[in-house]
Order: sequence, then C-alpha cells, then structure tokens
Amino acid sequence: MSTPPTPMERSVTAAIRAGYAWSVRHERREAWREVARMTGVIMRHLGPGKGPTTPAELVPLLRRPLGTWLPTADEALAELVVLDEDDQLTDDTFGVGCDYTAEVLAGQKDPGERWLPSWRTHRAEQVEHDVFKRLVAGTDDDYTAGRRFLVENPAGHAKTIVKRRVNLGLPPLAEFKDIPNDRQWRGQWWPCPVCSWPMSVASSLVRCRFTPHRAVYTLLEGDGRNLRLQPAQGSRQTVKARTVEGAACVEESVWRYIVVPGVVEVRLRDRIAALPDVDAVLYPGQDTYDIGVRRPGAKEWAFTLDVKDYSSARALAGKLAVRRITARHLVIPDYRGDQLGELRQRLPDLDISTETQIHRRISRALGGTR
Ligand SMILES: [Zn+2]
Repeated sequence: MSTPPTPMERSVTAAIRAGYAWSVRHERREAWREVARMTGVIMRHLGPGKGPTTPAELVPLLRRPLGTWLPTADEALAELVVLDEDDQLTDDTFGVGCDYTAEVLAGQKDPGERWLPSWRTHRAEQVEHDVFKRLVAGTDDDYTAGRRFLVENPAGHAKTIVKRRVNLGLPPLAEFKDIPNDRQWRGQWWPCPVCSWPMSVASSLVRCRFTPHRAVYTLLEGDGRNLRLQPAQGSRQTVKARTVEGAACVEESVWRYIVVPGVVEVRLRDRIAALPDVDAVLYPGQDTYDIGVRRPGAKEWAFTLDVKDYSSARALAGKLAVRRITARHLVIPDYRGDQLGELRQRLPDLDISTETQIHRRISRALGGTR
C-alpha cells in the first residue's frame, strides 16, 4: 500500500532518529548504538567521502540546517535544524520532519522500535492503521465516533476519559499513558488550547510543540505553589493548570498523526454542519474522505473534502503525485494558506482551497439564503 521511501526520506528520518537518541543518551544505553546505526544509513545515502563517517562527525551536523550537509531538494527541509543548543529536538522536527518519516531499516528487524517514539519509526498510515483497526469491523458511525473521540480526548483525567468512551459504546482505541516528565511541572500540566495535548515545559517556557497552534506561555511561579501561565509570542487563550495525579494522554505518534490533523478536520466539519440545510459527515465510509457534504436527504455528496496538513507544499505535492486523493476537494488548514499558490502550480488538476475558502464555497452553493 505505501510506497518505498526515497533515499532522502531515509536520511531525514535517520537524522531525526539520531537526534532523538542523542537527546536521551544519558538515560538510554541503546542511544549510542542508534546514533551509530543512523550514521550508517546517512553514509549509504551520501556515498563514500561525502558525509559524516562516525557518530562524532554526525552529531555537530545535527545542530546545523540539513541543507548545509544533506542534499534535500526542499526548502522547508533545507532549513530544518534537528538539535537545539540544549541538545534537545527542535520544534521543527515535529512539524517538518514528520512529513518525511520513513522506514529506514526495511527488510530487517528495527531495534529502535522497542524504545523510539513511534512517529520516528512509523509513517502516519501505520499509526492510523494500528489505532483504528478495532473500529473498522464496526459500523461507519462507530468509526466516525471513535476517531472523533480520540481527536477530542487526547489527554485528561484517565477515569473521565474511560467513562466518556464507554458512554459512546466505543472499544479502547489508543493506549493512554502517564503525562511525560517533560510535560509537567510541580505536579501540574497544561493542555494546548488547540489540540488539548499536554504542552512541553522547558526552562519556564510552556508550549505546544506543533508550532502552527501558536501556543506559547511563560510559567510564572508566584509564591511557589501558585503556578500561572502568561501568554507569550502572540498566544491569546488562557490555559488552566491540571493535576498530573490520575491524568493520562495518548502517545506522541497518535497525537502527531491523528490528533493534530484531526483538530482541523473536526473544526471544519462543525463549521460546515452549522450552515443551514447542509449535512456534513466526518470520515464517511470509514475514512473514504475526511468530510462529505450534501443537502439533507440527498444521496450523492455535493462536496467531498480531504484535509492535508503538511509543513511543505513540495512534500505534499510529491505525496499526492504518487497517491492521488479520492476526494474532489483538497483542503489545507488556514494556517497553511501561504502554500496555496505553490500547490496550485504543482497540482494544476486538483481543486484546492483553505478551510475558510471551502466553507464560503459550500455556503454559497448549498447554504440556503440565510
Ligand atoms: Zn497544540
């Protein structure tokens, strides 16, 4: 079903895996071997004498833009820096790097699978398949409800989440785990106001690692017990602290590949469904499309939408050239609006809009007279 990764995708994934391993080298003994293994993957791509030949040569390169040492053929990737000055993964690896994650050790056992966060070893389709395999045996309505449930409940009080799921008649989907250490401070955690997943906490900065959510806060400690978040860097919404005790969240790969794109899909579906005389269905036919739109009672869909959230228009166009979407309308999130020109140029046969544009078009075509 999925296409084999290109040498470039393999190298980018290897760079991110090596970067992650380096960031946890003090806690995990396997990390050193992982960096060595990934150096090998990159060496094979670049050829003899053209790149790092040892981990000691690779690690400094991870602190520089990829384009300065790896032929990337993509601007967003060329600018990607894997490790920050504290030797932690940069936010861009979550935004840009994820678009390229591929299997780097095809045909052999991947020792990284046991301990690397799975978005660094798996593609989006594999994560989706693993999570929703329990839903595909049920009805279309169960599938829609289950997928929506996960998008709306990626973190929270564990018992409340189970209660909500049981009330909806849904089986357990993804695994919920304790709030990770780097996402809490003094027994508290803070959900991103956009995706509801725990924001990361690092040196008094609390932020969602998916940068388009624009959720960045400064942690004010007050008298020591009274923790407060002050919006920073253009964030507007206020966020209340939650207690770590009894709280749980889905793992990073589910957040990145299901929750992050799902937030846009659910939001857009609800906006369209609020139009008078319009029926909008999320994930109809168990995800044949992201959203199907028609007049109430009509048999045929008037609009079929697929939402694609890629940090690079070029990467998205490349994926769609290999595998076409079945929906008639390709929709990009409003925060990716600056990709429109390039996407239309690269994919001239596709009907492409932003969230707001498609909403306006549907409103004009079907939305009654209000
Ligand atoms: Zn977020």
